[in-house]
Amino acid sequence: MEAAANSTAPSLLEAFPRLHQLKRLDRGYVRRLEELQLRAREFADRHLRERALDIDRRAGEDPSYFDWDVVRAGLPHGMLGLSVPAQAGGTGGLIVHAAVVMEELCTACPGLANIFGAHALGIAPLLIDGPAHYGVLGEITAAERRGEPLLMAMAITEPDAGTDVEDIDLLARARISSHARRVPGGYALNGVKRFISNGSVARWITVTMPVDPRRPAATWTCFLVDAASDGFSVARVEHKMGQRACPAAELVFDEVFVSDERVVGRVGDGAGATLIVLAASRPPVGAIATGIARGAYERLLRWLREDPAAQGMLDRQHVQLQLAGMAEEIHLARQAYMDAATEFDLAALGGVLSHPLLRGMGLVPASVRRRSRLRRLVTSPRARDATARFLRSATSDRAITRSFGLSSLAKARGGDVAMRVTHAALEVAGLTDAPIRAELEKLWRDAKLTQIYEGTNQLNRIEVYRALVAGETMPALPGRDGDARAEEEVTA
Ligand SMILES: Cc1cc2nc3c(=O)[nH]c(=O)nc-3n(C[C@H](O)[C@H](O)[C@H](O)COP(=O)(O)OP(=O)(O)OC[C@H]3O[C@@H](n4cnc5c(N)ncnc54)[C@H](O)[C@@H]3O)c2cc1C
Repeated sequence: MEAAANSTAPSLLEAFPRLHQLKRLDRGYVRRLEELQLRAREFADRHLRERALDIDRRAGEDPSYFDWDVVRAGLPHGMLGLSVPAQAGGTGGLIVHAAVVMEELCTACPGLANIFGAHALGIAPLLIDGPAHYGVLGEITAAERRGEPLLMAMAITEPDAGTDVEDIDLLARARISSHARRVPGGYALNGVKRFISNGSVARWITVTMPVDPRRPAATWTCFLVDAASDGFSVARVEHKMGQRACPAAELVFDEVFVSDERVVGRVGDGAGATLIVLAASRPPVGAIATGIARGAYERLLRWLREDPAAQGMLDRQHVQLQLAGMAEEIHLARQAYMDAATEFDLAALGGVLSHPLLRGMGLVPASVRRRSRLRRLVTSPRARDATARFLRSATSDRAITRSFGLSSLAKARGGDVAMRVTHAALEVAGLTDAPIRAELEKLWRDAKLTQIYEGTNQLNRIEVYRALVAGETMPALPGRDGDARAEEEVTA
């Protein structure tokens, strides 16, 4: 087993001076970061590294294979409550915390790590709806403390719309076949969602669908679906090339009822909310990619130093050049995701999360928050309007646009680095029959997905162009002036 001392990651405070600025806004920010990095490293070393190849092989033979033991092992390390706000019993980790944890886990096994990443992605839409869903988030953290894993997933992709659901302009013209129909007390969801990570094992899924299929962008809405609901089913689990430990499933919704309380955010705000969620999750994907590249580099270096079969190779200049190139790429990919993550957190902490109103929620006991009258109040249209207006007023278009651009840059750069470094490591290891070959080959397969999910690298580079080159304002935040209230239009 690889000891934590073998890590080539630098000390965080030394390497990233912006952390000092964030520390002033939230005193626990850096302490949490260092603790989480250590916790993640220990979890990866104890539970992921040695099982990675075996689980990958099993899931390759049978895509429905899922290793609940590894997920359970993550519970004492706080892996499921990481991004849940402290007010709902979680660690209150922000983007940088998720990213640093992902890098550590992915040095060991990106597939297993992605189970926790997809879970955090499923939670993300709930976080931008204020306290409305603290009930479900509290269930996740309570279950974690009891030793029971309760996983989440996020479903936006459809059979005929992948890239198109990740951009508001494309969404307006997308071939969307899902539909959330208004029924008394809520919505009836119909349609198919494809390639959903954790989709076959999640208890709760945040699902987006249009309320009016003729106007998907204007009526795109997020719903919190209980996988135990009538009408919900898993049609199939995909045969994957990489990150096999995390299942990607096709989900069918056949008149699945979701009550008004389980609408996430405002009806019609789903497209903007999805953009925020993607911008928040791209730095952690950059970190996943950095972790994959670092995993390959560290394995290769150890093999070159320790395996008699590799004797003398480290003295060859072409090998030294390859290693230097890998170290360079990993360093720059980490800089990119840390830059994007801290920029996002700075925008959030500077305006939203440090607000006295939100902090005050932490003083309300959970038992009171669970009372139905209060729950109805925080999930009412008026409270959601207030949350959207609050989000809008707490930050500026300029800050968001820059943050979105950096997130896309970190994601696209990271994905390409993961592919290049794993490829170069395989080339250096050559035809050796040592175990390192199978490990590197797996990391190369795992790396490919980082160029695809959270928006393909092509889409992300278009975002980089728009945000950082052309300086276009991102049409992201719900609550913009003149926003059409989709629900009013639909019900009118
Ligand atoms: C293993 C796996 C796990 C996933 N997990 C999830 C999940 O948990 N939840 C979820 O909702 N989705 C998930 N996805 C879906 C993923 O986000 C989509 O696959 C991705 O957005 C690409 O969509 P697509 O596959 O339909 O490809 P397409 O959109 O058809 O793209 C095909 C190619 O065309 C390019 N392209 C498309 N449109 C443009 C454009 N306008 N300009 C330039 N190039 C373009 C793309 O970059 C790509 O190279 C997952 C996918 C995979 C493979």
